[in-house]
Amino acid sequence: MSTATEPTATTIQAVEAAHVLQTYKRQPVVFVRGEGVWLVADDGKRYLDLLSGIGVNVLGHAHPAMVEAVRDQVGTLVHTSNLFFHPFQGPLAEKLTKASGLERAFFCNSGAEAVEGCLKFARRFWYTAGKPRKQFIAFERGFSGRTMGALSTTWDAHYRDPFGPLVPEVRFVSNEDPDDLLSAVSDDTAAIIAEPIQGEGGVRPLPPQIVAAINKACGATGALYIADEVQSGLGRTGHMFHFEAIGLCPDLISVGKALGGGFPIGAVLVSSRVAASISAGDHGTTYGGNPLGCRTALAVLETLEGGLLDHVRRVGPVFASGLEALKARHPMVVEVRGAGLMQGLVLDRDAAPVVPAALERGLIVNRTAERVVRMLPPYVITEAEIAEALARLDAALTAVEGA
Ligand SMILES: *Cc1c(COP(=O)(O)O)cnc(C)c1O
Repeated sequence: MSTATEPTATTIQAVEAAHVLQTYKRQPVVFVRGEGVWLVADDGKRYLDLLSGIGVNVLGHAHPAMVEAVRDQVGTLVHTSNLFFHPFQGPLAEKLTKASGLERAFFCNSGAEAVEGCLKFARRFWYTAGKPRKQFIAFERGFSGRTMGALSTTWDAHYRDPFGPLVPEVRFVSNEDPDDLLSAVSDDTAAIIAEPIQGEGGVRPLPPQIVAAINKACGATGALYIADEVQSGLGRTGHMFHFEAIGLCPDLISVGKALGGGFPIGAVLVSSRVAASISAGDHGTTYGGNPLGCRTALAVLETLEGGLLDHVRRVGPVFASGLEALKARHPMVVEVRGAGLMQGLVLDRDAAPVVPAALERGLIVNRTAERVVRMLPPYVITEAEIAEALARLDAALTAVEGA
């Protein structure tokens, strides 16, 4: 629905170009509306969304449960600060702690803040124990976010180098060779941080030998394990948390992305022994865990529990086998990687041209780690929508191959 007074796509882009800090390279599309797995642009063109705003809109767009929760809460009570109680933070913490097996939750506003919290609480644990430990171990190709602490455990030097000095005592180890981790870990290691499936690093599941090495290293030195589940957690892979699927035992978990279904909220989940080291005043945030955020996240988790997680378990394998079929048809696809609704197509070349080719065909995908086409569809995607998305992706790959 466009009227003469609404700004055109050209005007919108020009105003941004003039005033917005140019930290993003955007695709030339202006979205104005969403319905389920579909996004609608200002010109009325419809796009099948296989990215969910980078793993965020897990209920799809304008899901009735989320609309109802936000509408009702925004007209009731939006924010109170953490100086007071409200009805929703406790129940949300209860759901997350029951689902994870960790004892307590701290709420923040983003994935990077959740990682910051994990790093701070890990340091606090050793400080309280009376034997402060400095070192963090992170993995090659790992991504933790863009704040100073989270950036320090983010591997890609392009993200880190312009902003140094960062948090000292971070050591990066191989995400393939377990001996690298085992020789790096010591009695000065506060924590090891790893994504159960590396997202930005190219949808790389943590190999079993690395899982075993993390468990061994933590057992031998007492180092804490931080599971960064910001992208892989909360049903994305068909599990509430992916660490449980691969046999890791975190002391701290960072969550974000899926948690608010589009409302910005993150959380740190903390084991009882780490929780015991935290005192009032140690950490805090103005917005974190406010009534609107918690009510919305509760609606997301209730929808997940109400059958959506089972749906992901059903459609995840359908999606993966459809991608395998594409691999068989396209020689430039060398691997299909991931779990559930977190999938990557690894190409034999830069995947960048696939993004505009898909966009042209009304399909949204993302390219990461240069050669990987990443897909994080909304959990509500149906088998028919998966078939439609795969047909469009097939056409986009054909176009790129022929170019
Ligand atoms: C996206 C992401 C983050 C950062 O989350 P933001 O909400 O962008 O701050 C951290 N860790 C992982 C694994 C992520 O995928």
